[in-house]
Amino acid sequence: MNLGKKIKTTCSYCGVGCGIVASIDQKDKVLVEGDQNHPVNQGMLCSKGMNLHYVVNDTSDRILYPEMRWSKSHPMERVSWDDALDRAAGVFKSLIQKHGPDSVGFYVSGQCLTEEYYIANKLVKGFLGTNNIDTNSRLCMSSAVVAYKKTFGEDSVPIAYDDIELADVFLIAGANPAWCHPILFRRLEKHKEKNPNVKIIVADPRKTDSANFADLHLQLIPGTDIILYNAIGRRLIETGFVDQNFIENHTENYLKYRKQVMSVSLSNASKMCGVPIEDIKTAADLIGTSGGFISMWAMGLNQSSIGTDKNFSLLNLSLVTGRIGKPGNGPFSLTGQPNAMGGREVGGMASLLAVHKELSNPKHRQEVADFWGVDQISPNPGFSATEMFEALESGKMKAVWIICTNPMVSLPNLKRMEKALSNAKFVVVQDISHKSDTVAFADLVLPAAGWLEKEGTMTNSERRISYLNKGIEPPGEARADVEILCDFAKKMGFRGFNFSNAEEIYEEYASMTKGTSIDISFLNYDRLKAEGTFQWPVPDYRHTGTPRLFADHQFHTPSKKAVFNIPKQVENTSEKPSPEFPLILTTGRVRDQWHTMTKTGKVSRLRTHYSHPVLEMNSIDAYIDKVKEGDVVEIKSKNGVVRVRAKISKNIREGVVFLPMHWGKQLQNDLNRANNLTFNRVDPQSKEPDFKYTTVSVKKYKKP
Ligand code: SF4
Repeated sequence: MNLGKKIKTTCSYCGVGCGIVASIDQKDKVLVEGDQNHPVNQGMLCSKGMNLHYVVNDTSDRILYPEMRWSKSHPMERVSWDDALDRAAGVFKSLIQKHGPDSVGFYVSGQCLTEEYYIANKLVKGFLGTNNIDTNSRLCMSSAVVAYKKTFGEDSVPIAYDDIELADVFLIAGANPAWCHPILFRRLEKHKEKNPNVKIIVADPRKTDSANFADLHLQLIPGTDIILYNAIGRRLIETGFVDQNFIENHTENYLKYRKQVMSVSLSNASKMCGVPIEDIKTAADLIGTSGGFISMWAMGLNQSSIGTDKNFSLLNLSLVTGRIGKPGNGPFSLTGQPNAMGGREVGGMASLLAVHKELSNPKHRQEVADFWGVDQISPNPGFSATEMFEALESGKMKAVWIICTNPMVSLPNLKRMEKALSNAKFVVVQDISHKSDTVAFADLVLPAAGWLEKEGTMTNSERRISYLNKGIEPPGEARADVEILCDFAKKMGFRGFNFSNAEEIYEEYASMTKGTSIDISFLNYDRLKAEGTFQWPVPDYRHTGTPRLFADHQFHTPSKKAVFNIPKQVENTSEKPSPEFPLILTTGRVRDQWHTMTKTGKVSRLRTHYSHPVLEMNSIDAYIDKVKEGDVVEIKSKNGVVRVRAKISKNIREGVVFLPMHWGKQLQNDLNRANNLTFNRVDPQSKEPDFKYTTVSVKKYKKP
């Protein structure tokens, strides 16, 4: 390969945020390698990251020019950008005039860059006059956002990856970082290899690769997480491994917490969550006697109809032990997507405003309105992800603009999704790939630039902001998302969108952060390009970033104290296994695939790990249901059917089955989609859907 130039950038997959050096030849062919000098990965990349160049170099699936149909019965035809955006503006104006601003909405993605997230939110909340903008990050971390806000007063991740090497006990809860955050897990492995006293506890109904590596696996019954973490809390209190000074001086509501955790005996808790009492005691004693305790969690806690309460129960373990604001200590939610955190900063959900302001707070709404030079931000709460598609199904919402995400595979209850998108008067899909199942429902398809084809910034799980360089031109007529959105805004007749590049958008957003807890007003593109990555806040020109928050134990609540929040419900009772549906289905990810496979599905070597979806089931359940390894099984819930092959395993709890969520209709067929089975059941506090608890039956499939 004739290598022309090298640029530094960041991996576009998970929230770990690994640094990448991309070598680009004169024909724009790309080769990637890990950035040896990057503080996150020090040159390492996982299977997904190290194969990113195949995704960029293969443009066979790319959307190359705008396509539009004049009515639902017309075929799609190629149109100019001008015609495409004129049509979009015409339809949006007419719908807003006839049905009001809440009849339209945007559904965006944790893969959008911060500038894209910001401008989409400014457009929708500031100028279209609705708060109907939500994101696929709603599906992965909104429970953690609510829990952080209620515990610390703001959505603030307290620690950094560098704390890993300073801790000696880790509780990984409802996460499989060995597969889903591999480079972070590699750091953990290295730390343990060097320090045999390091102990890892994994709580998961499945014996995952992460659990296999752990010293203690708490193989709990799905939905009983709170009972388990409360039992650990009880044991910590009983053995005196609590930080009374921290509790008294820096927390609120401890007595209510104490009352709840003491209300269930350890032996009852053990029976309820299916974890031996000795293991509960061992976990608590390891945490209590540790020098540094870090909890890490992801979808197993967040994606639940009691997801926020689950988060509370885990956060409370850091509060009761006073393990926060000190090196090597703290709770650490792992974001799934590369810029889920950046989206949170700019208010990228229906319930949020930029710079951690609250949509429900009239003063905050006015401050943001003044900043954007508009009269007001609507006080009406916007639709969350599932609500938005329910509103399209019922006709309450008429049009949706979908950016960089594939809800026809990733949202729950795909039967309803199909109805929702078929029923919508106007669907815009702005994306890079024809491989998205959602494109088939579009009335207007807009080709977007992908990774390396545009510039901008992202924030990873540890609040680390990085600049992503543009290295190559997008194929065909594809354009950067910010250009598309600004041009649409101008066609709508809105002021405030005359940006000539992403940097100007960044500057506007950064100036908005001045004086806030996430201040990056002194961090500009020049510094990011010259000095590398920074963890917010960066409150002055010489500041090098803030790896750890709350060192002074001053939280963002009115009292400056952290709050013990008491779970209202300690067990997921949204469904109960029954004779008709005796098993609990959890859905999730496999090691080498990302989301709905529109990118990783293109790389043949990433399909060797799992070439097709399989249902993992316990050998006893398989025996009862007369299912053998490799049999095609039919999985049924009250909602739908899936047919895949069975993988019999001792690594999953009896009574629980696991199905990966990546496959869609385009990749196999519509009977491979895990979300045929799931429901629009959401956590009432975070509106995050429950992907971890659906009762199903499994039978060997016999062709009729
Ligand atoms: Fe990319 Fe995440 Fe893998 Fe790092 S761990 S290379 S960010 S997918």
